Parts: sequence; structure tokens; C-alpha cells
Amino acid sequence: MSGFDLLIRGGLLVDGTGRPGRPADVGVTAGRVTVLAPGEAPAGSAAHSAAEVVDARGQVVSPGFVDVHTHSDGVTLLGAEGGGSALVRAPVLVRASVLQGVTTEICGNCGSGLFPSLPERLPAMRAETRITFGGDVGAYANFASFAAAHAGVPRANHLASLVGHGTLRAGVLGPVDRPARPGELRTMCALLDACLAQGAAGLSTGLIYTPGSYAGTDEVVALAAVAARHGKPYVTHLRDEMSRVEEALEEAVEISRRSGAALHVSHHKTAGRYAWGRTERTLPRIAALRAEGMDVTCDVYPYTAGSTALSAMLPPWANDGGLGALTARLGDPAQRDRMRRAIAEGVPGWENTVGNGGWDRISVACAPRHPQTEGRTIADLAASAGADPLDVAADLLVAEAGEVTIISHSMVEEDVRRVLAAPYAMIGSDGVPKPGGRPHPRWAGTFPRVLGRYVRELGLLRLEEAVHKMTGMAAARFGLTGRGVIRDGAHADLVVFDPATVADRATFTDPLLPPAGIGAVVVAGAVVVRDGEETGARPGKVLAL
Ligand SMILES: [Zn+2]
Repeated sequence: MSGFDLLIRGGLLVDGTGRPGRPADVGVTAGRVTVLAPGEAPAGSAAHSAAEVVDARGQVVSPGFVDVHTHSDGVTLLGAEGGGSALVRAPVLVRASVLQGVTTEICGNCGSGLFPSLPERLPAMRAETRITFGGDVGAYANFASFAAAHAGVPRANHLASLVGHGTLRAGVLGPVDRPARPGELRTMCALLDACLAQGAAGLSTGLIYTPGSYAGTDEVVALAAVAARHGKPYVTHLRDEMSRVEEALEEAVEISRRSGAALHVSHHKTAGRYAWGRTERTLPRIAALRAEGMDVTCDVYPYTAGSTALSAMLPPWANDGGLGALTARLGDPAQRDRMRRAIAEGVPGWENTVGNGGWDRISVACAPRHPQTEGRTIADLAASAGADPLDVAADLLVAEAGEVTIISHSMVEEDVRRVLAAPYAMIGSDGVPKPGGRPHPRWAGTFPRVLGRYVRELGLLRLEEAVHKMTGMAAARFGLTGRGVIRDGAHADLVVFDPATVADRATFTDPLLPPAGIGAVVVAGAVVVRDGEETGARPGKVLAL
């Protein structure tokens, strides 16, 4: 018996399957796990020597967490290209995920990513991604070139990516409000097919966001059928998560049934005062579909506030043509009046966050040129200025070239708890790491918050259940073979945490504070976090699935 590269000794093994925890030691050799009976590897034993030992007494040893929903597509690339003071925070942003125990991030969500595109549209896409990701992160023809760009920037944890429908659509048609022509749809299907063959994780949509929202159901069915041929899921930010959330869920069900793709509902919520409590209808509906044999799952983040772009508060036609066209419209008082009326009266098929909630529930998260607005609501800014809230939002968007991130306090705790407790709900941070401002604390706090607040403090979930949602369930959904469960031969992506102290510390005012209680994080057999601090090891890879 040769020695291990790493031995994690004395912990409670919670293996990711949902089964009860049991005492066990975990040995790691060449990036793979061996599970040992407790005491099988006593200290100083020649039979089980190890180059490095982690003392896990009193701690839980679990598979590394899989963050199934991120917008971290470009965050490690921020430091690689460009420069400037905005990028000083990039390392803090990159670190936040791994410090909370995430060993695999799945990006490309909500229909938005850094690929794919026809070659002639790459320069325009690069200009847009520079603005939306807060720095020059590039734009890529396909998954392989995206993976190649990432391969040049060492990272601590792994990254997998969906193919974003909005990005795909912009990469073929441009950011325009019209149906795809048959030839364009064939091109979109071919680009998607190539990316999935190269290892992308599935297809995502963001049907509230332009340009994805310009697509009808049939277009999405055609694309989801390509995902189905690859055995990969259709992952969707529903067309409405507010007053028409049930209709939007039925559209997703139709897309799944007609295409044959498994359905995964992103960050399931029923937001805005007209939809509060509606999880009492959506969750039984999903449970009934599952009972019929349909493959449908969802993810959720443990907060009652969401975060998105300020431009998404405007009616879809306002964004027709992309950011330049948006800012031009915002400069025209007549167009502003049209937007004001659309928000007051609604537009068929449009979610209308502000109409469902109010400007007093929308606070500025990131406006790099106007940091004095960050943390304040649009209603509050308008009251101070003696101005109309729509004008305040419009002026801010114009001054920031169209890109302002907001936090939307749109949910109630009862709905969040119901979704968290659903047996098919996994955990996704929906983190949007970009430089500057006060991002939503979910990027730094999601996983410890579930374990601290919802497991230990509130008893909403058993520890093993919560870990399963973060690991085995997520790995099975997204085809992360050999991950998410600790068993002999599995990839050595691991977390060691203290169940008595694990907690999120990130807040809306201090959103990147690292959590408490996450002691060690192991990626591909290498210790990337020890005693809650990064070691500097960079064993992470882009995973081709
Ligand atoms: Zn989303």
C-alpha cells in the first residue's frame, strides 16, 4: 500500500447521496478518492502515509459544492486582459466562490454567455460583453474557443458552461426584435450542436431578457430539440416569474415535451406582490409532472431579493437593437413617456418588474460612474432629486452607457423556503461577479447560508439533504460524471466544513465578505482553501461534458 497525496482524517462523511453521515477518512491519490473506515489510517501508519493531512475532527467532509447557476463566465478573464482600477477587485470576486466551497461553477445561464457567434458578429459581441461583464472578457465563436481562452488563466475551481440562447441569437441575427428566419434558425441549431458536441452543458434561455425575449416558443423548441439529441437539459429563466409565472412554467413544460429535452427551471421564484404565495401552485404542478415521469428540476438561491440589469426594468422594445439603440431612445422624452406608460399599464407577454413591485423595491447595486447611487432605491433617488423615478433610471442608464446592475427586493420568505424544501430543488447562487459597486451577497454567501440559516438555525432541511442538493443532485442533472458523490474512484473535489459554525457573512452593504466555517476546499486533489484562506493552488479546469 503506497501513501496518499492527501488524507482527510477524523471527519463525518456526508457523501452527497443524501444518505446519513458516517465517520470515515478520505484518502486522495492522483486526484481520486478512496474512502477509508475510521482509524484505518492511523496517524503515523506506514501503510497509510500521506504527503498532506487535513484534520477534520468535528467537521463534515462532503463533495465540493456545485453552483448550478452562475454568471461568472468572464470573471477570471477580467484580470487576463485589459487593466485599470476597475479590475483591482477581480481577485476578490474570483475568490468568493471557492471560499464558500464551490468546486464547480456552471455559467452561461439565463440565455447569456460569451459564445457562440458567427465570426462577423464577434466584434459587436465583444463590445457588448465588455460593458455587461465590466471589462474586456472577449467573445468566442464556440465552446472550444471559450474553453481555450479560460485555459490560459489558471483557476482554483472548475467551470462548466451552458450555451445561452440570447447570446446565440445575437451571434446569428444581432440584437433585433423579430423572429428568426428559417435559415437563421438552422444556423443557430448548427452552432448549438457544435458547442454541445464540444462539451457545453446544455441550452439556457432568459426569456425576460432581450434579445432572448424576442423569440417565440417554436424557436426555443427547435433549439431544445438539439439539446435533447445530446441528452443535455433545457435550462430556463422563465418568461415571467411574477404575475404570469404559471403560464410561463407551462410554456417551459411545452418546450420540454415537444423537444424531448429534460427541463430545469432556473432560480425558481414567484416574485412581485401579485405572485407572492404562488409557489403553493407551481411546486405541486412540478411535483405532479415528476410523478407522471417527466424529468423536471429547479434551482434556488436563499434570499428574498434578486439582482439583474436596470435595463430589464424597461419594456422589451426599448432594448431593440442593443445598448446603443437603448441609450438613444432614453435620450428622447417622447420615448421615455412611452416607457412610463408601458410600466404603468403593462405590455402583453412582458414581465414588468416595476409594475409588479414599484421603484421603491429596486436599489442600485453597481453604477461605476455614480457610486453615490449604490445601495439606494430608485424611488429614494427620485424623491431626493424631486424627479420622476423613470427619469432617474433613464438618466442613470444613459450616463452609464446602458449598464447598471440593480437589486430587486421582490420575494417573500415563505416562497423561498418552500422552493428550498422541494425535493428536486438544487442550489445555485445566480451570482453576478463584476467589478465595482455592491453586488448581491449571494455570490459570496449562498452555500454557507443554506447550511447555517436553513439547516442549523431553522431546521428546514436535514444536513444530508442540503448537501445532496449542493452536490450529488446537481452533478446528476448536469452530467458531471464522477463528481458530486464521495465514493472510491470519484474525482477529489471536496469540502471540509464545521456544521456548528458554518454561516454566510456577506451582506447587502458588505457583499463580498467570506463565510465562516468553511475550513478546507479540495479541487482535483489539491488543497485550494486551507483554514478558510486560499492557498494559491490553481488546479481548476473548464469541464467538457
Ligand atoms: Zn436568470
